[in-house]
Amino acid sequence: MVRLSFYGGVGEIGGNKILVEERGTKIFLDFGQSFTFGAGFFVDYLQPRTLSMLKDLLEFDLLPRIKGLYAEGLLERTGIGYTEPEIDAVLLSHAHFDHCQHICYIDPKIPVFLGEGTKIFLECMEEISYSCKYGDHDYRTFRSGAKIKAGGMRIEPVHVDHSIPGAYGYLVETSAGVIAYTGDLRAHGPRKDMTEEFVEKAAAAEPVALICEGTRMEEVERRQNYSEAQVREKGEEIVGGTDKIVFVMRYSRDIDRFRTFYEIAKANGRDLVISPKSAYLLGRLIEDEHLDVPDPRTDGAIRVYYRRKKSGTYDDSDYYKWEREYLDRMVTCEEIRKRQKEYLMELDFYQLTELIDIRPERGAHLIRSMSEPFSDEDLSEEVLQNWVEHFGLEFHQMHASGHLSREQLEWLVDTIAPKKIFPVHTENPQLFKKRWKNVESFKCGKQLNFDFK
Ligand SMILES: [Zn+2]
Repeated sequence: MVRLSFYGGVGEIGGNKILVEERGTKIFLDFGQSFTFGAGFFVDYLQPRTLSMLKDLLEFDLLPRIKGLYAEGLLERTGIGYTEPEIDAVLLSHAHFDHCQHICYIDPKIPVFLGEGTKIFLECMEEISYSCKYGDHDYRTFRSGAKIKAGGMRIEPVHVDHSIPGAYGYLVETSAGVIAYTGDLRAHGPRKDMTEEFVEKAAAAEPVALICEGTRMEEVERRQNYSEAQVREKGEEIVGGTDKIVFVMRYSRDIDRFRTFYEIAKANGRDLVISPKSAYLLGRLIEDEHLDVPDPRTDGAIRVYYRRKKSGTYDDSDYYKWEREYLDRMVTCEEIRKRQKEYLMELDFYQLTELIDIRPERGAHLIRSMSEPFSDEDLSEEVLQNWVEHFGLEFHQMHASGHLSREQLEWLVDTIAPKKIFPVHTENPQLFKKRWKNVESFKCGKQLNFDFK
C-alpha cells in the first residue's frame, strides 16, 4: 500500500509539500511555502514570533504536525517532543520559494536531495539576503538520470525546462509502480528538450500515478505569454529600433531571460548593465559547467551598476563584502546618464529610484519581462505606471512563462498516460477532471491510501 499526503499546492499555485510513504519509507517531494502562507492569521507586523516560530505556525495548522520531521531546537514549547528523523529524504525539484522555502524548519539530519544548480541558488540567497536562512542540512546533489536511494525507495531525478536552471521532475519507484512528479516545467523554453526527455522517461515507466503541476490550467488564459524565442525577437525590435536607453525588469533567478537580453544587448552593440546581486549570482553559477552563462568578471559586454550608498562616493567600504567583487566592472548613474544609448539596463522594481539620477530621455523604453499582475487592483502596478508616466517611458510587457500552456499540459498527460492523475500547483483541479476521467480528488493534509489496482 502506498500512501500519498498533500500538505500544500492543493487548489493553489505553489507551496508543494507531498509526502510519499511505503513500507516504513517516507519521502517529501518539495517542501515549499505557498504564496498566501499564513495570510488568514498574520498580516503586516503581526507575524509569528522569532523565538517560537514553529509553535505559532502549528497553532493554526500552517505546517503539518508530523513527528520526526522538524529540527530539535525549533520544537521547544510546541508540545511535539523531539524524535530522531522519521523522514528518509526531502527531494527538491528546484530553487523557487514555493518549492523549497520551508526546509528551514526541518531536522538537519534529514538528507535533502537537490540538483547542483539548486544548491548554488540556495547558497547565494543565504549569502546575499539577511532574511533568508535555510538552516544546516545534509545536502546531497545529483545529476539527471542518477538513482537516489532513500530508505527502501529508489528515485530518479530527470531534468526539465523551467524558468530557473537546475529544475527536475522525479520518478519514484514503489512496489505498486512508478509515481511521476513533474515539479514545475514548460515546453517552450530554450531547453524544451529536457522536458521532452522527462515526458519520454515518465511514459516509458508506465506510471501508476502522475503528480502534475497545472499552473496554466485555466478556462481562458488570463495573461499574455510568449516563448523565450519570441521574447528575444520582440526585445530585439525595441532595442534595435531606438537610440535611447532601454530598461528591463526580470525575475532575478530567471537565467534564460538574462541570457536573452544579454544577447540582444550584444547584437546591438550595447553593454548590459546588471545589479551587484545579479553579478554575484552569475559569478557563482559559472561554477556549474552545465550552465552556459557569461562570466561577469571578464565579459566585456557586462557592466555592474552600483547605487550610491553610505558615504555617497562609491567607496569600497560602502558595500557589502559580496558586492565588492565587481567594483572594477562598475558603471555609475553619471556615466549612464551621459551615454544612454550605449546601455540596456536591468532595473528591479525596488530600484526605480535610480531613474531620478539617471534621468532617462523621454521616450526611453521599459520592458517588463515578468508575468503581468493578477488583478487590476495591484498596488505596485499602479506605482510602476506612475513612474513610467513621470519619466515619459514607453512601457512594454513581454514574458515567457515557466509553466506548460494548457495544450502542452494535455500533451504531457496524454503522452505519459498514467493510471491516476493528481493535479497540484493549480487553482483549477476541476478542469483536469473535465478533461480526464482518472483524476483523483484530495484535500490538503489528508492521507490517501492507494493500492493502484
Ligand atoms: Zn517554479
